[in-house]
Amino acid sequence: MKIVPIAFESLGVRSQATFLETPDLKILVDPAVSLAPRRYGLPPHKLEVEKLLELARSVKEYAEEADVLIITHYHYDHHDPGFVIPRDIYKGKKVFIKDPNSFINASQGKGRAPRFLNSIKGLPDSVQPADGKEVVLGHTKIRFSCPVLHGADEKMGYVIQVAVSDGDETVMFTSDIEGAPKEMHVKFTQEVKPSTLIIDGPLSYMLGYALTEEQFNAAMNNLEKIVKQGLTTMIVDHHLVRDQRYREIISSLKSKVKEVNANVVTAAEYLGREENPLESRRKELFSESNEPAKLPRGVAELLKGGG
Ligand SMILES: [Zn+2]
Ligand SMILES: [Zn+2]
Repeated sequence: MKIVPIAFESLGVRSQATFLETPDLKILVDPAVSLAPRRYGLPPHKLEVEKLLELARSVKEYAEEADVLIITHYHYDHHDPGFVIPRDIYKGKKVFIKDPNSFINASQGKGRAPRFLNSIKGLPDSVQPADGKEVVLGHTKIRFSCPVLHGADEKMGYVIQVAVSDGDETVMFTSDIEGAPKEMHVKFTQEVKPSTLIIDGPLSYMLGYALTEEQFNAAMNNLEKIVKQGLTTMIVDHHLVRDQRYREIISSLKSKVKEVNANVVTAAEYLGREENPLESRRKELFSESNEPAKLPRGVAELLKGGG
């Protein structure tokens, strides 16, 4: 299966947008890009905004090619009601979404999901809540997990995980589970047995604030367990790469799983590109050139919404 990580933290923005192509179906999971409104007390740097607009164009191009678009939950780094990616990408597509009416927190269920669904009204060929469902399109099977926690508790709501099988192999996308701190996050990987897993990793840059040491250790142990279940490749990126120490954390995971010969990489590494984790380098970017970005209107609205 062709796997293209389009936009991720290691490529310079907040996103997990991924294009998957089987012999008979093209799928784009989470067509959106975002930035941290504030990091180290600083607004986005000019280079980050340029990268956001560049990767928004890539997401749009891949989305136009796709037959199926999937939205795993309603945070702005996973869906876009028209801020920087045109709503036209939904025209004529089959759209599978996280159920907006159950297992959802207030900000997503009452605010963002209805706004998004309203913004794409009339455009897609179909829009279907996908939680826990299985869909067969030609020779491609798409399985969606039941809703699982966005991290260790209910505060951030729920996401659905996605597994795509083409008969030869299964590629799985975890969405925002914050590196699998709970048994429920591991369960779907045990059911679908992916060879490649795209996972977000723990919010280790928030250690001591939004993440406890215990939750971090639970996530690291589960990542180890998941790799040892028989993965060929784990693309670990998104939340983890917001941390300046992500290299050390990936190295320590790699040393724990070295007997199984799995490939543990960031999205940039997977693509053979140089890593460009702009958000974690924001302080340096400002010390190299003090250029706060002039924000185009869509970007300003996106960041006002919480990034
Ligand atoms: Zn999220
Ligand atoms: Zn996210």
